[in-house]
Amino acid sequence: MIAIYPGSFDPITLGHLDVIERGCRLFEQVIVVVFQNPNKKPLFPVQQRIEQIRRSTQHLPNLEVDSFDGLTVTYARMRQANVLLRGLRVVSDFEMELQMAHTNKTLAEDIETIFLATSTEHSFLSSSVVKEIARFGGPVDHLVPQAVAIDIYQCYAKTPIASAPTAAELPSPMEVPRTDHPKETPPV
Ligand code: ADP
Repeated sequence: MIAIYPGSFDPITLGHLDVIERGCRLFEQVIVVVFQNPNKKPLFPVQQRIEQIRRSTQHLPNLEVDSFDGLTVTYARMRQANVLLRGLRVVSDFEMELQMAHTNKTLAEDIETIFLATSTEHSFLSSSVVKEIARFGGPVDHLVPQAVAIDIYQCYAKTPIASAPTAAELPSPMEVPRTDHPKETPPV
C-alpha cells in the first residue's frame, strides 16, 4: 500500500520525521509531498524544503519526496496511492484535519486518511514554533534535523546558542509566541 504524506514542511521538524519513520514501517511506500500553502508565507522555497527532507530521510529506503501544485487527491491518484497520512497533535488539529479528511473523501471515495498520533515528546512541536524560536535567536537544534537547523540559522543570520536546552529548560507551549497555531486552513 502506498501512502502520501502531504504538508507544507516549512521546515520539516522532528515531529514530521517521527510520523514519516512510523509511516515507513506501516506502508510499502511513503511519498512526502510538499505543497505550497497559499495561506502561509513560506520561510523556505519548495525546492529547498524537498532537499531538507531528502537529506533528513536518507535512512528510509521506502521513502520518496516530491512536490505538487494541485489537489492532494489528484496527486494520490496519479501515484496510485490510497492512503493520505496525517499527524494529530492537539485537539485544535483535530477539527481542521477531520474537515480536510471529509472533504477529500467527497473528492475520492476510495482514498482513506489515516492519522498517526504525535509522539508525546513532539506534541508541542510545529514548524511555526521552530520559526518563532529562531526568529528571536533561540536554539532549534533539538527540534529539527541538524542540516535543517543550519539552514534556519543561516536564514535568520543568527548565531545558534552552543547547546540545546534540556527538557526542563524548554519553554512550555504557553510561553512560545505562536503566529499561525491553531493553524490556518491547509490546502486540501
Ligand atoms: P499543513 O500546512 O498541511 O498543516 P504541516 O507541515 O504543518 O502542513 O503539517 C503536515 C502534517 O504533519 C499535518 O497533518 C500535521 O498535523 C502533522 N504534524 C506536524 N507537526 C507534527 C508533530 N509534531 N507530530 C505529529 N504530527 C505533526
